[in-house]
Amino acid sequence: MLTKKASIFTTEWTDAKLKVGHVVLFISVVCISLIAISAWGIFNSLEYHLHDKETEMSNLSKTLSSNIEATLTQADSVLLGAKEHLESEGSNVDNLKKLEELLKSQQKRLPQIHGFFVYDEQGDWLLNSNGSIPVGANNSDRDYFIYHRDHADPGPYLGPSIRSRSTNDWIMTVSRRINHPDGSFAGVAIATIYLNYFLGLYDGVDMGENGIINLATSDGHIIVRKPFHESEVGLNISKGEVFALLKPDVNSGTATIKSFVDGVERVIGFRRVNGYPLVVIAAFDRNEILADWRSESFGSLVISAILLLILSLIGYRLAKLIKKQIQAQRELQKSQKKYIEANKTLKSMALEDGLTGIANRRHFDLFLEAEISRKKRKPNDTTLIIIDIDFFKLYNDHYGHVQGDECLKSVAAIIKSHVNRSGDLAARYGGEEFAIILTNTDYIGAFLLAEKIRIDLEKNKIEHIKSPLGVVTISIGISALSEGDFSISKSLIDTADKALYIAKANGKNRTVISN
Ligand code: GH3
Ligand code: MG
Ligand code: MG
Repeated sequence: MLTKKASIFTTEWTDAKLKVGHVVLFISVVCISLIAISAWGIFNSLEYHLHDKETEMSNLSKTLSSNIEATLTQADSVLLGAKEHLESEGSNVDNLKKLEELLKSQQKRLPQIHGFFVYDEQGDWLLNSNGSIPVGANNSDRDYFIYHRDHADPGPYLGPSIRSRSTNDWIMTVSRRINHPDGSFAGVAIATIYLNYFLGLYDGVDMGENGIINLATSDGHIIVRKPFHESEVGLNISKGEVFALLKPDVNSGTATIKSFVDGVERVIGFRRVNGYPLVVIAAFDRNEILADWRSESFGSLVISAILLLILSLIGYRLAKLIKKQIQAQRELQKSQKKYIEANKTLKSMALEDGLTGIANRRHFDLFLEAEISRKKRKPNDTTLIIIDIDFFKLYNDHYGHVQGDECLKSVAAIIKSHVNRSGDLAARYGGEEFAIILTNTDYIGAFLLAEKIRIDLEKNKIEHIKSPLGVVTISIGISALSEGDFSISKSLIDTADKALYIAKANGKNRTVISN
C-alpha cells in the first residue's frame, strides 16, 4: 500500500517536474532568443556605424582630394603661363613688370594664393606679386630651388610646408623650372599657397572631437593636418599604417588604424590627389563612433533587459502556478480516495446490522425483493424462516439491556454459523427477531435447518432464569414459495409470522411450518 502510494506520488512529482521543466525550457529559449536578437542587433548596429563612418570618410577624402587638386591646378596653370612667358619673352625689366601685373590680377582671383615669385638661376628674387623685393633676398637654399636646379623635368614640384620669408605665414609651394633657350637652368617660378586656405576648407567639416584631416605628400610628409600643430608640419609619417596600405597601384581606401602621430585608433578614408604626389586622409575617432553606438545600444539594451525581466517573472510565476496546481491535484486525489473509502463504509453500514454484524432489515427487504423477481425468471423453491427469542422482555428486565444486547449477538452468531450457502441470507429482522431466506430449499430443508439452529442454541445454554426452561430459547415459523408460486414478499412474511405465532402459542422453543 505504502509503496503504491509512494509510486503514485513519484509519478506525479515527475510529471510536475516535467511540466515545470517545459515552462523553464520555453522561457529560457525565449530569453536566449531575445538576448541573441539584441546582441545581433547591437553587433549589426556597430558594424553599421563603423561602415557608415568608413563610407563618410571615403566620400570626404574624395571631395577634399578634388578640391585640393583644383586649388593646386589653379595655381599651377598660372605658374605654367608665367614660365612660358619668361622662357619666350625673357626676364628683362619690362617683361617682369608686365608679368607682375598679370600675376597680381590672378592672385586677386585666387584666394588660396599667398603669392607668386620668380627667382633667377642664383636664387635672387626677380618678381614678387606681393610688392617690393627685399634687398639681397635669395632663396637658393630652399628645397624647391635646389630640386629644379638639379632636375630638368618641367613638371610642377610640390615643396614641403614652410614659413614665408616675406609674410611669415605657413605656406606650401608649387613651383616650375624656367629654362634658358638652350635648356639650361634659368630660375624658378613659384606659387605659394596658404596652409590656412586648406584649414579653412576643412573647417566646414564636422570631424567630431578627435577627428583629423591630413594632407601629406606621397612619400609620407605632412603638409597640413587639422587640428593644426606647427610641430607636426613636415613630420614623416611614411612608417604609419596608411602608407603601408598605400601601395603604388592603390588610389584610395578605407581602414581602421592607429594614428602614427597621436596613437588614436581611427576609421579612415584616404585618397591620392589626381595629378599630384599627394594623399588626403580623413579620419574619425573610433571611440567617438563607439560612444554614439553605445548610447544608441543602451536604449535597446534597457528595453531588452526589461523584457527579459518580465519574461523571467512570468516564467517564475507560471512554474509556481503549475507546482501549486499539481499540489492541489494531489490533495484532491487524496480526498477523493478518502471519500471513496468513506462511501464504501457507509454503503456497508447501510446494509449491516450495527449490533450483530449480520444483514439488517433493509438488506433483508432488498434481498427478498430481488429473490422474488429472480424466481419469476427462474422458478425455484424459496423458504423464509422467522426466529423470535422467547421471554426476551423478561431477559432484559432481569439481566439488563447491555446483557440483552450480548444475548442478541450470541443468538445471531449461532444463526449465522448455520447459514453459509451463497444464495442464502441471515438477517436481523427487528428487535429480538431474525429471518433467514433460503433459495432452492423446500419446507423440509428449511425445517431441518431451523431445528439445527434451535437445538444448537439450546446446547449453548445461555442462562435465562426467568424462562421456565432456564436457558435462552427461540420459537421459529417457516413459510415457503414453491416453484410455481409467485406470491409477493408480504404474504410470505405474513405466513411465516403466523407459523411463529403458533409456535409461541403452543409453548415456545419449537419450529412450526405454515401450511
Ligand atoms: P415472547 O416469548 O412472546 O416473544 O416474549 P417476549 O418478551 O420475547 O416478547 P416481546 O415482543 O414482548 O418483547 C421483546 C423484547 O425484546 C422487548 C425489548 O425489551 C426487547 N428488545 C428488542 N430489541 C432489543 C435490543 O436491541 N436489545 C435488547 N437488549 N433488547 C431488545
Ligand atoms: Mg418478539
Ligand atoms: Mg420474543
